[in-house]
Amino acid sequence: MSDSSAEAPFSPSTKTEFQQYLIENPSHRRVSQSERDQFLQWLTADVTRPSSQKEFSRRNYVRRSFIWDDITSEIHTTTGSNEEGNRVLVTDDCIMDVVESVHIRNQHAGWDRTWNDIRKSYYGILRADVIFLLRRCLVCAKDPRKRPKDSTRAFCDGLSDNDTASGLFALDDFINEHSTA
Ligand SMILES: [Zn+2]
Repeated sequence: MSDSSAEAPFSPSTKTEFQQYLIENPSHRRVSQSERDQFLQWLTADVTRPSSQKEFSRRNYVRRSFIWDDITSEIHTTTGSNEEGNRVLVTDDCIMDVVESVHIRNQHAGWDRTWNDIRKSYYGILRADVIFLLRRCLVCAKDPRKRPKDSTRAFCDGLSDNDTASGLFALDDFINEHSTA
């Protein structure tokens, strides 16, 4: 049992804490199951009329920003000028599983590295979510040498507050920030 990467990074109580954290720190950058269903309908069918101007705008935004991949049955971001295309949309119930698998794959690299690995490939996860979970990684806790020193210094305890604030975007801000038109 010398291979620490085989250990589960998160305890069952971390799962409970994280679910509570998601409820207490809502963000339009995360996507719930029902939102994903709505995205999917907008991306694959054209039967419903938007009920409002707001929905019309949102639907257009979603159609510009995401595509449905029939083969993988996933929603991806489109390649835009922000160079963040082709990321897989992750619903909020899967955030922990994704962070766990990426963090195991990068062999318990630090917060920066794990966040960068996630940001490159996935949409719908906040940096604060990653840090919330990595702080509770049982393997990293046992072996703090695995955390790069600059990572722990760069993100001291003030971070989650900042990210919470930036996570509370109104939808319009969200659209403005992500559209370049
Ligand atoms: Zn770890």
